Amino acid sequence: MSFDPTRVRADFPILSRQVNGRPLVYLDSGASAQKPQVVIDAIGAAYAGEYANVHRGLHFLSNLATDNYERVRAIIARFLNAPHEDEVIFTTGTTEAINLVSYAFAAPRLAPGDEIVLSVLEHHANIVPWHFLRERQGVVLKWVEPEPDGSLPPEKVLAAIGPRTRLVAVTHMSNVTGTIVDVAAIARGTDVPVLVDGSQAAVHMPVDVAAIGCDFYAITGHKLYGPSGSGAIWISRERQAEMRPFIGGGDMIREVTRDAVTYADPPLKFEAGTPGIVNQIGLGVALEYLMDLGMENIAAYEATLRDYTRDRLRELNWIDVQGDAPHKGAIFSLTMQGAHAHDISTVLDKRGIAVRAGTHCAMPLMQHYGLTATARASFAMYNTTRDADALIDGLVFCRELFG
Ligand code: PLP
Repeated sequence: MSFDPTRVRADFPILSRQVNGRPLVYLDSGASAQKPQVVIDAIGAAYAGEYANVHRGLHFLSNLATDNYERVRAIIARFLNAPHEDEVIFTTGTTEAINLVSYAFAAPRLAPGDEIVLSVLEHHANIVPWHFLRERQGVVLKWVEPEPDGSLPPEKVLAAIGPRTRLVAVTHMSNVTGTIVDVAAIARGTDVPVLVDGSQAAVHMPVDVAAIGCDFYAITGHKLYGPSGSGAIWISRERQAEMRPFIGGGDMIREVTRDAVTYADPPLKFEAGTPGIVNQIGLGVALEYLMDLGMENIAAYEATLRDYTRDRLRELNWIDVQGDAPHKGAIFSLTMQGAHAHDISTVLDKRGIAVRAGTHCAMPLMQHYGLTATARASFAMYNTTRDADALIDGLVFCRELFG
């Protein structure tokens, strides 16, 4: 099936609105993607006619909501090519997912002086949970620098692994430079457990956790055209068996007495309390929508957008783009002499163009580049070369303003 961006755009009602008197040019999908009508409708329908708490009732609506909700586990398993659906644990997003691994897997088995290898490309969600272990239990963080072009060779990550390394935590795609990391080569090259932050990558390319061979793979719904507060982490059965529970409460137990507690089997063991039922149902619809379009088709289309935008940005020799790895997604972090990133984004906003300015929750990477902020244009499958042209025109206008 060929990919038709015009048809896809028509599925996203927000894209036809105006901002500041101009047609919206949404280039902030790296932060959060917009939602297709099918997802918006599914959320409304779930609340309007099929809502009750899950796993609890023996009544019709509770059973229906449970079926709709549990179905999403199978959808996520299919989306990630996970061998078993009970390896999918629902979370509110990647931040919770990585905190789960930090608390339930890493914390009990890491001693002072043990090491976690991570890259300087990481988002704070894949940094701060490891800092907790550094602060609380003397774990050592070993940082791997990207190459000057922003790429992260797997050999470099593997070279950082020593006898005391207990975990490798690495992104599959940088949210700042768009760098795609060969996480399969990393997982193949070591017996140390590998956690992959798939927040960005899973939106833009097919993901096959079985082929990658990692141990943990986190995704977040709001970037995947689904509701905010939805997400999941795939954890192999083998690793799940080694994990203690995370948050305690209802639903994750088998039995509670005054003196003791026993836990439900995974995945419920890791999912306490009333979950984001409708959020996850919306995520399931979003993933089915993506799989209908075909992740290969999306990746191929976005590669054309990336190349077009990269070429057009190269025409502007007064713009610096951070990271230009050969394998990268359509994410461009920009700086310009004479204009702060916040000024760039404010000027672009006046022209209806949404980009993000700041550190992008990646301060170590900003420090690596010697920057305090960039303006980031992040493309999605509903963007077109016209959006790239609007960005370029907006940047030329900035240059005229700030000279
Ligand atoms: N990791 C990366 C690479 C991201 O881009 C983001 C979101 O910006 C996150 C993690 C955090 O995801 P969430 O906010 O859904 O927890």
